Amino acid sequence: MRAIHPYVFAFPPGCTHFSSAAFAINILTQEAPLPDSLRIGIVGGSLAGCAAAILLLREGHTVTVHERSAGALRGRGGGIGTTSTVLNALMRNDVIDVDFPHCSTTTMPFIGKHAEHEPLGRTPWSMPLDLQTFHWSHLWLNLRTRVPSDRYRAASPIIGADIVSDGSVSLRTEQGEDEEFDLVLFADGAHSFGRQILFPEAELRYRGYMLWRGLLPESAIEDSSPLEGTAPRLAHLREPGSTAMYLIPGSDGSTVPGSRLCNWAMYVPLQEKSIPRFMTGRDGRRREGMLPPGSLHPDEEQKLKQIAQNNLPRYYADIIGRSTDTYAHLMYTVDVPSYYRERMCLIGDAGVVIQPFTGSGIFKGYNNVRSLIDSLHDQGSIDRALPQWNAMQLVIGRRLLALGDQMEKALIWNPLNVSTAGAEAVEAWWKASVRFPDDFTLQRS
Ligand SMILES: Cc1cc2nc3c(=O)[nH]c(=O)nc-3n(C[C@H](O)[C@H](O)[C@H](O)COP(=O)(O)OP(=O)(O)OC[C@H]3O[C@@H](n4cnc5c(N)ncnc54)[C@H](O)[C@@H]3O)c2cc1C
Repeated sequence: MRAIHPYVFAFPPGCTHFSSAAFAINILTQEAPLPDSLRIGIVGGSLAGCAAAILLLREGHTVTVHERSAGALRGRGGGIGTTSTVLNALMRNDVIDVDFPHCSTTTMPFIGKHAEHEPLGRTPWSMPLDLQTFHWSHLWLNLRTRVPSDRYRAASPIIGADIVSDGSVSLRTEQGEDEEFDLVLFADGAHSFGRQILFPEAELRYRGYMLWRGLLPESAIEDSSPLEGTAPRLAHLREPGSTAMYLIPGSDGSTVPGSRLCNWAMYVPLQEKSIPRFMTGRDGRRREGMLPPGSLHPDEEQKLKQIAQNNLPRYYADIIGRSTDTYAHLMYTVDVPSYYRERMCLIGDAGVVIQPFTGSGIFKGYNNVRSLIDSLHDQGSIDRALPQWNAMQLVIGRRLLALGDQMEKALIWNPLNVSTAGAEAVEAWWKASVRFPDDFTLQRS
C-alpha cells in the first residue's frame, strides 16, 4: 500500500494535484502503465538528494545517488532553522529521527544599538516566533543514514546527461562511466549543473550582499541568558544589512545549557566589483559562492569585525569578535522557467534559489519529491506526470521567492531604525513589510 507523507508546505488554494480524469485517459489510451520500479538517478547527495532517495526508495524505485564530494558533507553551514511544522513533519515521516537534536526559539526581538542601552541594545518590539534551530551537518547525517550505502556513490561527479532513444537519460560520471535511468533528478544545489544544461538562460542573480557567519561555543560566553529561547534580529546602526543570532545544539548534539553553540549570521552589502578581492582567501585562492570556515583573508575578517563593533550592541559584537574560523556566502537568487525538460527534473536549490531568511531550504527538495511521487501515482506515466508536477513547483517556488524578496527588503535594504522607533511603529513596519503565507510562517500566532 502506498505510504501517505503529508507535505511540509501545502499547495496554494486552487492548485490541485489529484486528477482521476488523467487516470481514466491512461486506461482509454492503453498507454503502458508505470512500472512498479523506476530506475531513478539523483545528482547530488546533500539535503534534497538524500530526502529524494529516502522517499523514492520507500516507493520501491531503484535509486542511485551520485555525489561529487568524497567525504561526509560537513562544514557547509553551521546553524540552520525552520518552523516546528516542518521539523515535526520530517520526524513524523521518519525522514529524520524523532529525537533529532534541536533548540527552540519563541521570540525574535528587534534590537538596535543605542548608547544608553549598552551592552544589550534597545528592544522596542519582539515578534512571537516559531523557529527550531539545529546544525546543518546533523540534518545531513540524519538523512544520509537513511540512504543505504550501496545506493549512494560519493566522489562521483556527473559531467554529462544525454537523452537516449527510448526517452531515458544517460548520466556520465567524471570517471567515464555511463548509466541509464528512466528519470533523473538534479539535486545539485544553487550552482546546479543540471539547471545550466536544461535552462542556460536561468542565471543566478547576485543580490548585492553576502552573509558572513560564525559559531562561538556557549561555554565561551560569560552569560548566555540573553540568547535563551530567542533569535534576535539585530539592526545595523550605520549601514544596510542586519544580523541574526541563535543557539544550536553542540557538535555532539547536546542541548544542555553551556554545551550549545551560538550561531550568528551577519548580512553585509558587498559591491559586485569587490567580489574578486573578497573571495580570494588567505591561501590566495579565489573561490566561487562560499569561503569555507577559516579561509577568509585576515584583513577582510578584521574589517567585518569592525563593522560588527560599529553597528551592533556590545554584547553581540563581542560574540562575533571572539569567533574564529568564520566563513561567508555570496547571496544569489534564481527563478527557473520550468522544473523539467524531457525526463530530467530540478529539485531543492537546483530549482529556484531563495534568500536564506525564509527557512525553506531544508524542505524544498523534500516537497518537490513528495509532489513528484503523487503526480506519478495520479498520472500513471512519467511523461504525463511531469507537466502536472512542474506547474505546481513553479507556483510554490515563486511564492517562496516573493517571500524572500519581502524579507530581504525589510531586513537588508529598507530597515526601520529600531534604535529609536517605538514598539507600535516596529510592529506595524514589520507586518506591512513581510506577509507570511498562511501555510508557511515563522511567526507564532
Ligand atoms: C548561508 C546560508 C544559510 C542558510 N540558512 C538556511 C536556514 O536557516 N534554513 C533553511 O531552510 N535553509 C537555509 N539555507 C539553505 C539551505 O542550506 C539550502 O537550501 C540547502 O542546503 C539546499 O539543499 P540542496 O540539497 O538542494 O543543495 P546543496 O545542499 O547545495 O547540495 C547540492 C549537492 O550537489 C552536489 N553536486 C553538485 N554538482 C554535482 C555534480 N555535477 N555531480 C554530483 N554531485 C554534485 C554538491 O556537492 C552538493 O553536495 C541556507 C543557505 C545558505 C547558503
